[in-house]
Amino acid sequence: MSTDQVRFTLPEEEIPKHWYNIVADLPSPPMPVLHPGTKQPVGPQDLAPLFPMEIIKQEVSSERWIEIPRPVRDIYRQYRPSPLVRARRLEKALDTPAHIYYKYEGGSPSGSHKMNTAVAQAFYNKEEGARRITTETGAGQWGTALSIACQMFGLECTVYMVKVSFEQKPHRRTVMETFGATVFASPTSLTNSGRSILANDPNSPGSLGIAISEAVEDAATHDDTKYSLGSVLNHVLMHQTVIGLETLRQFEMAGEYPDEIYGCVGGGSNFGGLAFPFVRENLLGHTRTKIVACEPAACPTLTRGRYAYDYGDTVGITPIVKMHTLGHGFVPPGIHAGGLRYHGAAPLLSLLVDGGYVHPVAYSQLETFQSALTFARAEGIVPAPEPAHALRGAITAALEAKASGEKKVILVGVCGHGNFDMLAYEKYIAGELEDYEYPAEKIAEAMTHLPDVAAG
Ligand SMILES: *Cc1c(COP(=O)(O)O)cnc(C)c1O
Repeated sequence: MSTDQVRFTLPEEEIPKHWYNIVADLPSPPMPVLHPGTKQPVGPQDLAPLFPMEIIKQEVSSERWIEIPRPVRDIYRQYRPSPLVRARRLEKALDTPAHIYYKYEGGSPSGSHKMNTAVAQAFYNKEEGARRITTETGAGQWGTALSIACQMFGLECTVYMVKVSFEQKPHRRTVMETFGATVFASPTSLTNSGRSILANDPNSPGSLGIAISEAVEDAATHDDTKYSLGSVLNHVLMHQTVIGLETLRQFEMAGEYPDEIYGCVGGGSNFGGLAFPFVRENLLGHTRTKIVACEPAACPTLTRGRYAYDYGDTVGITPIVKMHTLGHGFVPPGIHAGGLRYHGAAPLLSLLVDGGYVHPVAYSQLETFQSALTFARAEGIVPAPEPAHALRGAITAALEAKASGEKKVILVGVCGHGNFDMLAYEKYIAGELEDYEYPAEKIAEAMTHLPDVAAG
């Protein structure tokens, strides 16, 4: 075999026809979602002002396979099936006996995996008569994906973008506006949530949690408007399973199977999408793949957060869910992996971490960028800073294999390209990036504000 990349490309007919719902195979059922006011389990009617009914059904479904609607698959065809690549040049650069494969989602119209759920969510909203969708975005990848999907289905899109990113990443905002979205720097003075934050801190840099409060409030107070979340929720992780389902087929073509899987975690959607079909194989007793969730040391939700009930947003107007959390008051430091700066994590992923089915690990910013450059120079793709955390995990494993002479097969999720992250790369290359560990006392402080929940 040559030392060049080997791509495993599936034909169009092999785009999955169903999403995989891991709830059907979990060892224990997920914990109930609680109403922020009553602290009692929420019912479909509580969520109806925010989401279309089909999405609500998917959120609480325990059916194993859910059919992907035809119009959604038709749009998936623009960029799916995505390639699985054997990273031969990276293996050579590391001089490792390990086989390294990466599943690449950077070829989608928005440049990340987020299109997979944006298209599905826009479709169901259109079907059920919404005129407009609101959302939040941090680094801008989610807002971009949703604005493209809204444009495809003829919906308006309002994006509350975290203020620091709005200022630091003007091109991201322009991309969203190119696709017809209206973009505000959050906190705004347009919502009660935004005004309450600004009253306390007129210079608030914003956070994902604050932007969620604003987008939810906007949708809840307008009849023709729904809200859409790009990560964390069960239905979002399920939409992303097209990634892992394709990868299972591609490994059949390759005649191998991964011993270890590395993905990055912000809210958990690209990770769940890649890993859950493989977690299923483990749960069924077919395989014993080691599955590793990689996060930033500056926002160490899974490694240092508590598994407890907490709000999904900062202000406390969203439902309360059981998840790993750093506390909803957590304001993350300005690291460059913007997509990984969230105080919580997906309940489904948290449950698997708590049960020992998924192993979390945290990496600091500098070692992460070092791995990003190693990958970029070997494979010719600039990864987004988020999947660079997964690459750090995979490269560390490949170097361990070199030391021990072990021939293992490593799979890593490269869920987006970093072409809009040149400011971060520029700083790293100039030696100006710094490491940042979130101080234990700040985590402890944020924990004192968890909601008081009997079931917790
Ligand atoms: C949004 C985003 C993330 C983080 O979100 P998850 O839900 O954890 O996947 C990671 N990488 C990229 C490229 C993203 O756009």
